[in-house]
Amino acid sequence: MIRVSAVDKYFGSLRVLSDIDLEIPRGQVVVVLGPSGSGKSTLCRVLNRLEVATSGSILVDGVPLPEEGRALAELRADVGMVFQQFNLFAHKSIIDNVTLGPVKVRKLGRNEAREEGMRLLRRVGIADQAEKYPAQLSGGQQQRAAIARALAMRPKVMLFDEPTSALDPEMVSEVLEVMADLAEEGMTMLVVSHEMGFARRAAHRVLFMADGEIVEDTTPQQFFEQPESDRAKDFLGKIL
Ligand code: ATP
Ligand code: MG
Repeated sequence: MIRVSAVDKYFGSLRVLSDIDLEIPRGQVVVVLGPSGSGKSTLCRVLNRLEVATSGSILVDGVPLPEEGRALAELRADVGMVFQQFNLFAHKSIIDNVTLGPVKVRKLGRNEAREEGMRLLRRVGIADQAEKYPAQLSGGQQQRAAIARALAMRPKVMLFDEPTSALDPEMVSEVLEVMADLAEEGMTMLVVSHEMGFARRAAHRVLFMADGEIVEDTTPQQFFEQPESDRAKDFLGKIL
């Protein structure tokens, strides 16, 4: 599904990703952990070309990431992303946020897009919010709308970059619940999150990053119970 080979990313002289090799098979749920600045967001962003890798190759379903134009828009549809700050269009209703991409990129008719959009809003539990604007929703509802918007593009993979860390604590579980359901349904997912409960319950695999490298690549059980590296032990000591 995703194959990353020898990827480096520099910002100026700062090496943020160092020789990353990573294969994510279809249906796998990968949780990425690591200290602040270790390159987790950058890894997500190079996978859908919000950032361009300095060197190395990234294949999605065997195809290199396109550079621009329609092919890039289609890649972004295939590789859905959900951010910490929901990034909804403030001046569009929730249902319009969800249908915009399918109409533009997938060339769906308005009615069809709306029908499918409403189905997705029901699935994430906010169908009753469809006509409201983002600012009228709680953080948890906005984030569920952002997930529905990404799903409306029929992605092959979903990337989540700390999707719950901007939420009030009481709203975290409603978003994790939606993500756990997606995982259960077999979505291929890369999730940057320090939510240990989610990692233990939903992840097939944990990547621990430090200084731009993947330091551990193992099962959640192994990682939480017997981390190998000193950096992972130190990290777990701080967050658990
Ligand atoms: P956090 O847990 O705080 O979100 P992270 O693991 O997601 O951290 P990244 O955001 O990937 O880390 O950043 C990795 C490094 O790259 C950091 O040193 C950061 O300052 C730097 N960096 C990220 N984006 C840019 C940018 N656009 N320009 C310059 N440096 C950047
Ligand atoms: Mg980050």
